[in-house]
Order: sequence, then structure tokens, then C-alpha cells
Amino acid sequence: MPIDATQAYDDDNIFARILRGEIPSRKVYEDEHALAFHDINPQAPVHILVIPKGRYVSWDDFSAHAPVEEIAGFVRAVGHVAREQGLVAPGYRLLANAGSDSGQEVPHLHVHIFGGRGLGPMLV
Ligand code: IMP
Repeated sequence: MPIDATQAYDDDNIFARILRGEIPSRKVYEDEHALAFHDINPQAPVHILVIPKGRYVSWDDFSAHAPVEEIAGFVRAVGHVAREQGLVAPGYRLLANAGSDSGQEVPHLHVHIFGGRGLGPMLV
């Protein structure tokens, strides 16, 4: 069920629970600002989710309210994971669903990293 982009942060959302270690994840990277783990339902040979550690519902919430150092740390973490996964030369795709029209389901900001095969043209 897509989220309401204006909703308050829900501390029981699944990614909050992963951050607290209450639910296991296949972690690939963690630092002060971000956690990266494999998507449970991969849509490409590499499908990793990168989430900020702060409590942000969506890209809108994050870009409007996060301190600059958290934004910079998160962006650097996404790039670091892509490099670490060997995706820079072959290429990769980043995607962040934001709000109901996008189909965002988990109300904690996440960036999808897709790679490991030719991804074809963007559909939208
Ligand atoms: P969204 O549609 O952009 O919100 O994407 C949510 C993503 O989270 C989907 O690709 C799901 O497969 C993924 N997902 C949901 N629960 C888990 C989990 O427990 N571990 C890892 N990925 C998950």
C-alpha cells in the first residue's frame, strides 16, 4: 500500500526496525549516516537499498529537513556502495520513490541501487 507522503514518521516501519536490529538484513555497508542492505525481493542481480539513519519519511522530508552533513553523508554512502559493488564501470541506476503516485511502500527514505545487467531504458 503506497504511503501518504505527508504522514508523520512511523517508528515501527520496517526499515526503522532494521536500523534498530530488530529485523535481520543482509547488510553491505554501514557508517554514521547510512545503512545499506540487499533488497528482499531483488529486481536485478544487484539490488541494494541505502537508507539514512535519521527519521525521514521520504526524499521530500529529507531534502527539506535533514542537516547538510546528513545529506552529504548519505549521498557519499550511496556512491561508496556503488563503487564497492563494482558498478561504476558497467553502470547502475538509482531510484527513490517518493509518495503515493510513485508507489513508495516503506515510509523511511530509501534509495534503490540497481545493477549487474543492462537495465534498459527508463520506463518513466
Ligand atoms: P519502495 O516501493 O520504493 O518503498 O520499495 C520498498 C522496497 O523495500 C521493496 O523493493 C521491497 O522489496 C523492500 N523491502 C521490504 N521489506 C524489506 C526487508 O525486510 N528487507 C529488505 N528489503 C525489504
